Amino acid sequence: MPRILVTGGAGFVGSHLVDRLLADGHQVVALDSFVTGRVANIAHLAHHPRFALVEHDVIAPWPSLGRFDRVYNLASPASPPKYQRDPIFTLRTNVEGTLRALEKAEHDGARFLQASTSECYGDPEVHPQPETYRGAVSTLGPRACYDEGKRAAEALCADFVRARGVDARIVRIFNTYGPRMDPGDGRVVTNFVHQALRGEPLTLYGGGRQTRSFCYVDDLVRGLVAYMEHGSPPPVLNLGNDTEHTIAELAVLVRELVAADVPLVGRPLPKDDPTRRRPDLRRARTALGYRPRVSLREGLARTLAHAQAELAPRRRVA
Ligand code: NAD
Ligand code: UDP
Repeated sequence: MPRILVTGGAGFVGSHLVDRLLADGHQVVALDSFVTGRVANIAHLAHHPRFALVEHDVIAPWPSLGRFDRVYNLASPASPPKYQRDPIFTLRTNVEGTLRALEKAEHDGARFLQASTSECYGDPEVHPQPETYRGAVSTLGPRACYDEGKRAAEALCADFVRARGVDARIVRIFNTYGPRMDPGDGRVVTNFVHQALRGEPLTLYGGGRQTRSFCYVDDLVRGLVAYMEHGSPPPVLNLGNDTEHTIAELAVLVRELVAADVPLVGRPLPKDDPTRRRPDLRRARTALGYRPRVSLREGLARTLAHAQAELAPRRRVA
C-alpha cells in the first residue's frame, strides 16, 4: 500500500488532497504546524486507520516519519495577509521547508510534487501565462517573501532533479477556492462569501477591474494527483481554471448567490497586486487531459453552502 506524505495537510488544499488519497486507498501522513491550517479541516479523519497527523514546523529538523513513496509539499502560508504577516517565516518555510522535504524524498526514493504558484509570474506582461513565461516579480516588495520563496523552491526542485536524480515535479497553482478556506484568511473569495453572509459590504480593492481565474478545489486536486502519477511528466505545469473574471464580476456573482442586498465598498489596491491572471492550460490538457469541470457559479454555491453550515452552530450558541 503506497505511503504518502502531505506537508500542509491540515490546510485548505492539503486537507482535500488527503481526503482524495485516502479514498484511493493509500496510507497518508499529514505534516502540519497549524500556522494557517485548521484542526476542523481534518477532524473527520481523527479515527481513520490509514491517516496520521504529525504536528511539526517544516523549518525545524524533521522527526522520524518512516519511508514514503510520494511527497506532496504544500506547507506554506498562501493568502497575502497571512504570508505577509511574518515574511521571513514565509521565506524560510518555502526555502528551508522545501529543502527538508526534498531531502526526505531523496532519502526515501519518493516521487515529489511541489505546490508552486501563479505568483511566480508576478504582475505578468504575457497573457495568459504559459509555463515558459519567466514572470515579472518584484524582489523587494511585500509579496516577494512568497513569490521569491516559491521561485527559490522551484530552483531547489530543479537542482534536486539535475544533481541528485530526485523525481520532482512542480505545479503552478492558480487561485483556488472551495469549502474549508479559513474565513479569516483575507483572500477575495472568503472575504466576499463571509461578508455577504454577514450582510456586510463587500470590500472591492482598487475598483475591481483586476482579473483572476478561479479554480474549484476538486478540479485542482484531480490535477495534482494525475500529475503526480504521470509516468513521464513535464517538469513544470500550470493548474487552475482558465475562465477569467474581474473581481467586480466576482462580487456581483457572490451577492446574487447569497441574495444579499449589500453594497460594494471601495478599498485601496494593495501594493504589487497583479492586474490580470489567467493560466495557459494547454500543457495540462496535452499531458494529463486536464480540464476544469466546475463552473464558478457552481463552485461558489458549494462554497457558500459549506460556509453557511460552519456558521450555523455558532449562530445557535449566540
Ligand atoms: P493554507 O494556508 O490553507 O494551507 C497551508 C498549510 O501549510 C496550512 O495547514 C499551514 O498550517 C501549513 N504550514 C504553513 N507553514 C508551515 C510550516 N512552516 N510548517 C508546517 N506547516 C506549515 O493554504 P492553501 O490555499 O491550502 O495552500 C496550499 C499550498 O498551495 C501552499 O503551498 C500554497 O502556496 C499553494 N497555492 C495555493 C493557492 C490557492 O489559491 N489556494 C494558489 C497557489 C498556490
Ligand atoms: N481583493 C478584493 N477584496 C478583498 C480581497 C481581495 O478586491 O476583500 C482583490 C485583491 O486585491 C486581488 C484579488 O482580489 O486583486 C485576489 O486577491 P486574493 O488575496 O484572493 O489573491 P491573490 O491576490 O494572491 O491572487
